[in-house]
Amino acid sequence: MPSSIPPLPGLTRYTWWGAVPEGLLTKTQLDRQGLKPGSDPVGQVLYHGNCYAPLYEESAAVPKRGCSPAQRAALDRARELQYVCRRCGDRRDYPLGSGRWCEPCSYAAGLYAAHAKAQRFAREIVGDPGAALVVVAAGPGEYAQPETVAVIRVHDQELLHEGPAGAYGTAERGALLDRLDVLLDGRRVVHETDRGPVSRYPSMLVTPPGQLVSSERDGLHPWLSPHRESAEKADYVSRLWRNWFAWTRDEWSSMASEPWDQERGVWVAWECTAQAADDARVLVALLHRIAEGTEPVWERAQWIEDGHGEPELPRRRRRRTTTTA
Ligand SMILES: [Zn+2]
Repeated sequence: MPSSIPPLPGLTRYTWWGAVPEGLLTKTQLDRQGLKPGSDPVGQVLYHGNCYAPLYEESAAVPKRGCSPAQRAALDRARELQYVCRRCGDRRDYPLGSGRWCEPCSYAAGLYAAHAKAQRFAREIVGDPGAALVVVAAGPGEYAQPETVAVIRVHDQELLHEGPAGAYGTAERGALLDRLDVLLDGRRVVHETDRGPVSRYPSMLVTPPGQLVSSERDGLHPWLSPHRESAEKADYVSRLWRNWFAWTRDEWSSMASEPWDQERGVWVAWECTAQAADDARVLVALLHRIAEGTEPVWERAQWIEDGHGEPELPRRRRRRTTTTA
């Protein structure tokens, strides 16, 4: 074996086997299937740290001489399958690629994956004995002032705090902030909402009247931001519910939005009252129902509406272990 095989110019380089798209194979891999390249290489993969092996389209490969009729038939079947959606069975006149889903099914699958993720996420929150939901109830409008505040432990739905918000700049508001600092210290903090029709952010408690509420993190009161593992994964009940409910404006959406209709405008599954404690109980019960799978899903969610059932989600991609070219 030569000590290194340099990359071919002008071809996409994949630096590990797991990055190689489905349907691209090396000569050796084709050979194992009784095939040989039927076209020029379309990419190359790094192996042994310093060698590049050209990659060929599996669908363009041709049988080697001596390929048995059975091998040939299997090859034809495999090629044919690349055009058939594995969920709804529709045939397309182009190969469907690695997921083998037609477009409508890939949208349904994306929505369903987010829905399933919302449940896992809700289970994580419900299963955390310390996690606490903070609800700040306020009047309507952009410059609404907070009226009441509640903190509820998600796990056992025990109300840890409820009371008036006090006015900005008063001793009452200051005492409330101190109390919440102590109560929420070290807990996984869950918020009601990140956006949408209910702009009831805990940051309202530190925002002077007449100013827009900033969602920026406050160093003094870290609980003014929810627990957050990543940009997509922050502890907002509204976001979890949105993904769980899976409302979309049309069938070409791969992401759930806040439901909207002519009568109600944008809406959520819960009432927003002036009583934070009541709302907190409702929201925590909602989290539990999502965790249990008993919370309703939009009756026209794509995977329900299209009649093809829950999409089978791909398992985590296996890393290819072949190391020879
Ligand atoms: Zn399909």
